[in-house]
Amino acid sequence: MIPFNKPFLSGKETEYIVEAVNSGHVSGNGHFTKKCHHFFQDKYNFHKVLLTTSCTDALEMCALLLDIKPGDEVIVPSYTFVSTALAFVRQGAKVIFADSRKDHPNIDIDKIESLITDKTKAIVVVHYASIAVDMDKVMKIADEHNIMVVEDAAQAINTFYKGRPLGGIGHLGTYSFHETKNIISGEGGLLIINDEKLSERAEIIWEKGTNRASFFRGEVNKYGWVDTGSSFLPSEITAAFLYAQLEKLDMIQRNRIYIWNQYYEGLSSLAMQGKIYLPVVPEYSTNNGHMFYIICKSLNERRDIISFLKNRKILSVFHYLSLHKSEFYRNKYEGEELPMSDFYTDHLLRLPFYFELKDDEVNYVIQSVVDYFKEKTK
Ligand SMILES: *Cc1c(COP(=O)(O)O)cnc(C)c1O
Repeated sequence: MIPFNKPFLSGKETEYIVEAVNSGHVSGNGHFTKKCHHFFQDKYNFHKVLLTTSCTDALEMCALLLDIKPGDEVIVPSYTFVSTALAFVRQGAKVIFADSRKDHPNIDIDKIESLITDKTKAIVVVHYASIAVDMDKVMKIADEHNIMVVEDAAQAINTFYKGRPLGGIGHLGTYSFHETKNIISGEGGLLIINDEKLSERAEIIWEKGTNRASFFRGEVNKYGWVDTGSSFLPSEITAAFLYAQLEKLDMIQRNRIYIWNQYYEGLSSLAMQGKIYLPVVPEYSTNNGHMFYIICKSLNERRDIISFLKNRKILSVFHYLSLHKSEFYRNKYEGEELPMSDFYTDHLLRLPFYFELKDDEVNYVIQSVVDYFKEKTK
């Protein structure tokens, strides 16, 4: 069986975990946490970063940092993972779901402006499959209306928009290190704070509403409860695992892009015959090889391809279901139809994608998709 995903280990994870355990400091914000923080600050020039226990947690920190309250509105794409919306809904926000682009599952920027009201506090964009949303346009709209921007860059580590790293452009950005992502720590995430005004408070929210971090830097002589917050920081065991992965980031990225290109080239003749659509990468964005998807012509065809591949022992899977139609939100939803979000819900299909996928396996998947269409026209 060719699985859909397989977590990749760099080989140093357990060595660094042992080192963390033996150091005597296994709670958060120790040696390995600081090494991870420096990694991101040095490599991408981020102003401030904080490791979190998940990307969901990092998004929840965003909602707290932006003081989201009942009655506030937050614009979120409907075609995304639950957490992108849930983090803000938990603070009482009314989520205003936005549709996807015609040529890409990413949020359709041209439709954002009509969703803005005087209650809009934030726009959350998701860089789907690591492909950048047109951030200059987003930031311009946000500036004009005095709205904060959060980048859910869960899938988009090491991707660049016009040369700038994703997650580093909005006021706040988030990454995920869940085992399904490019760089993993089991569960894990990162909050990127680009708006300097939010830095100090981010640290307090991270450390259960206390000014513990500035106490340990010697800036205050005792620490106590000063604000809201939670326990958002991971233990050193998680940070040690993550650091072993970060050391191999460039190698991991190179191999994933290599696999992505094989899929793209191998399936391009089917796309040219109009049988499937392939992902579009606009010239302003790079690609980190997070996933490879095809767009099928119909829901039935997607179902047939999934079972055809399954018979050949290949696991392919669809992805999000429009959040505005979810069991949790559909009765609360008052907005318009979102036809493109529904389109990707029904037509998008992801092919097996992981670091250890071998050339012959990629070719077997490609050949199997080609064979599906050959047998169909028989
Ligand atoms: C994976 C993912 C998340 C959630 O990440 P966790 O680290 O599992 O909390 C959120 N948003 C998007 C777009 C994701 O792909």
